[in-house]
Amino acid sequence: MISPVKQPYECNLSAARLHDVAGPARGTLATMKHAIKYIGFGFAVLFGVLAAVLGLTFSGLQAPSNGDELNQVRIVESGTGSTVGIVPIGEREVVLIDAGSDATGAPILAELEQRGLTAEAVKAILFTHGHFDHIAAAGVFPGAQLMALAPEADLIAGLVKPRGPLVRFFSVKPTGFKVTRILKEGESLMLGDTTIKVFAMPGHTAGSAAYLINGILFLGDSADATDKGKLQSGHWIFCDDLDQNEASLRTLADRVVAGGDAVQALAFSHSGMLRDGLAPLSEWIDSHP
Ligand SMILES: [Zn+2]
Repeated sequence: MISPVKQPYECNLSAARLHDVAGPARGTLATMKHAIKYIGFGFAVLFGVLAAVLGLTFSGLQAPSNGDELNQVRIVESGTGSTVGIVPIGEREVVLIDAGSDATGAPILAELEQRGLTAEAVKAILFTHGHFDHIAAAGVFPGAQLMALAPEADLIAGLVKPRGPLVRFFSVKPTGFKVTRILKEGESLMLGDTTIKVFAMPGHTAGSAAYLINGILFLGDSADATDKGKLQSGHWIFCDDLDQNEASLRTLADRVVAGGDAVQALAFSHSGMLRDGLAPLSEWIDSHP
């Protein structure tokens, strides 16, 4: 069979049509390329600004005190820059202050293993607050009660967004972490053979808490330690309300002293421990009346 031969006008018509179609397509492609270029540039600028802000935020701080220990309480870094306090409360039982940013909890489990313990030894996790980098491994410890102040429960459960200027842009989803014991300002909690005092510290988040255990005052993200051994208040980019955070710090020293408990050290979630009693907090209060 002989194939039909195309006439010249058919070829010309096809070429013209192709030209008609290709012209606008090329225009659209060029526009898309420009858009992608501008979006890419926008992201690069945004990323650069964010990196600069975070760099400034964390510059001048003491490095987290991974492995530091005082009065049998050990600080473990679980996830980059996030620390967890491991507190023995009996023969083979511990409680945790926060659950770090490593969802596997591997550094915590490794520390427990060194003591001949497993995940079941963790009887409670006391949250300083519900930001994601403090709660990630909460599901790793099946026997642990989850404890926090009431205003923090929904944030820990992933049912509400954090409100800080930066963290409000992070997406949230339900974590499955249900606070099983609501704590109260001024409460003294007896866990095993250990007494834990609870202080409400609204500001960094609505339900932020500080805990006094074995002479160590855990301040979470309500404050940090500078590399000069000073205390500084929380970072505004992560804080719900920095003024309220600072107001909580101003009253904390009096509340602790009123309880008659000695403080040997201040512990922070993202910086090293200060071992000079309440002095760094008192100095900060004096310079921020
Ligand atoms: Zn935080």
